[in-house]
Amino acid sequence: MPNKTTLTFHGGINEIGGNKILLEDKGTRIFLDFGKSFKARSKFYDWMEKPRLANGVGDLLALGILPDIKGIYRQDLLSLAGRGDKEDRFVDAVLLSHAHSDHADYISFLREDIPILMGETAKDIIDSIEAERQANIEFEISGFKKRPLERGSEIIRRKINTFRTGEKIKIDSIEIEPVHVDHSIPGCYCFIIRTSDSTLVYSGDLRMHGNKPELTLDFVDRASSSNPDIMLCEGTRINETYSNKESDVLEIFRYYVGNAKELFVLVDYSYKDVDRLTTLYNVAKSSGRKLLIDVKTARYLLALSTSTSLALPKPNDENVAIYKPRKGSGVYDDDDYDSEDVEFYRQENVLTAEDIRGKQGSVIAALGASYIDQLIDIRPSGGVYFHSMSEPFNEEGEISEFKMNNWIERFGMSRVHSHCSGHASGRDLNEIVKRIGPKALIPIHTEHPELFSVIHGGKVKMVRPNSAFEL
Ligand SMILES: [Zn+2]
Repeated sequence: MPNKTTLTFHGGINEIGGNKILLEDKGTRIFLDFGKSFKARSKFYDWMEKPRLANGVGDLLALGILPDIKGIYRQDLLSLAGRGDKEDRFVDAVLLSHAHSDHADYISFLREDIPILMGETAKDIIDSIEAERQANIEFEISGFKKRPLERGSEIIRRKINTFRTGEKIKIDSIEIEPVHVDHSIPGCYCFIIRTSDSTLVYSGDLRMHGNKPELTLDFVDRASSSNPDIMLCEGTRINETYSNKESDVLEIFRYYVGNAKELFVLVDYSYKDVDRLTTLYNVAKSSGRKLLIDVKTARYLLALSTSTSLALPKPNDENVAIYKPRKGSGVYDDDDYDSEDVEFYRQENVLTAEDIRGKQGSVIAALGASYIDQLIDIRPSGGVYFHSMSEPFNEEGEISEFKMNNWIERFGMSRVHSHCSGHASGRDLNEIVKRIGPKALIPIHTEHPELFSVIHGGKVKMVRPNSAFEL
C-alpha cells in the first residue's frame, strides 16, 4: 500500500467524459464518478449496438471499455463472463458528481454493496430516467435485476446515499465536501476532498455563463479557501473563449418562432437540460403555442416537480402538451404502450399527429431525433428545426446530422443552430483556476490538456491513463 494519496485515471484523460478516477488513501478507495466512455465505446459499437448481455461484463472488459479491476463488478455479470470466483470488495464508495451518462452510467456494472453517493436531485433524475427505459445493462444505476435469472427475479436496490451542498462526508481517512455548481443538468456538484496528507478539488463539469453562476462562484470561493494541493479540472471547452448565454438562445428562438407564424417548429435538445426546457416553455407561452413534449420528458418534469428551486412546469401545465405517437396497432390502443406511459397518455393535454396536422402553428415540438419519423404523420410543409445542442464532434454525430438534415429538407423545413453549453470556456476556466490557485492541476474531461499550461504554467501535471499518480 502506498504511503501517500494516489489517483488512478481509468477514464477521463484525453477524452471528454468517461470519468472513472480512483482515489486511494491509507487503504480507503473511492471512485470519483464511474461514467461511460463514449470515446472507448464508439471504437467498437455505434450507439444502437450493445455489448452482449450473455457475456455479462466480459465484452466491455475484453475491449478495454471498462477497466479490469478485481472486486468492483457485479458477481452475476462476472459469472456470465466466466469469472465465477468470489472477489473481495475493492472500493469503499463512488462519488457521483452529476447524472450525465459520461459520469454516471457505468455504475450499472458495479457490485451492489458499493455505496453510491450523489445529490438528491441527481437521484430523482436517475430514478425518472430508469423508470422510462427498457432494461438496459448499460444503465441500471438505482435498481437492477440479477442475471441470468432474468425472469421473475427480484429487483436489487443499490445503496444510494444522497448529500446536499456544504455537508461533510467522512469515509475512513477521507473527508468529502460536495459543493453545488451550475451545469446543463440540475443537481451537479464539485468535491473538495481532504485525505490524510492532501487536499484535492474535483471540478466535475461546470460553467460560469449559465443561469446560476452564483452556484459555481460558491464552489470557487470554498475551493479557494481550502488551499488545495491539487485540482482535477475539466477542460471540455478550454480551446474556446466565447460562450453563448441561455438568454441568447431565448432570443434566437423568439425571433424565429415569431416569424414562423402558422408553421411547424421542431426542437432537438437534451431533455435533461432544464434551462433549455424553461427557455422553450417561455417561448411557447409568449407565442401562444403549447410546448409539446414526449412522455419521457413528462416523467422527468414530474420527478423534478417537488423542487422549488427549479420551478419547472408540471406535465399537466396549461402551456404544455404531451405527444402520443402511433405504435403497435397504429390506432392508439392502450395495449400499444407501457402501462406507466398510458397514465400520461390519459391526461387531457395529450395531442396526436392528427391533432397537430391542421394546426401546425399551435405547438413547439420539443421531440428530438428519436421522434423524427413522426414528421410523416404530422406532415409539416415548411417550418423551423432548431438544433439546440452541441454541434457534432465525431463521425457518428456527423452521420446523425446528415440523416436529420435529410428529414428536415424532405419536409421543407429550415435548420437553425442555437445552444448554450454546459461547460466553461477557456477564458472562464482561467478565471476559476486563478481564483482557486491549486498548487498543481491535472487536466481531465478534455481533448486539449496541453492548453491548461497556458493558464496554469508549470503547475500542470500530465498523467497517463490507468497508472497511479502519487500526490
Ligand atoms: Zn456533464
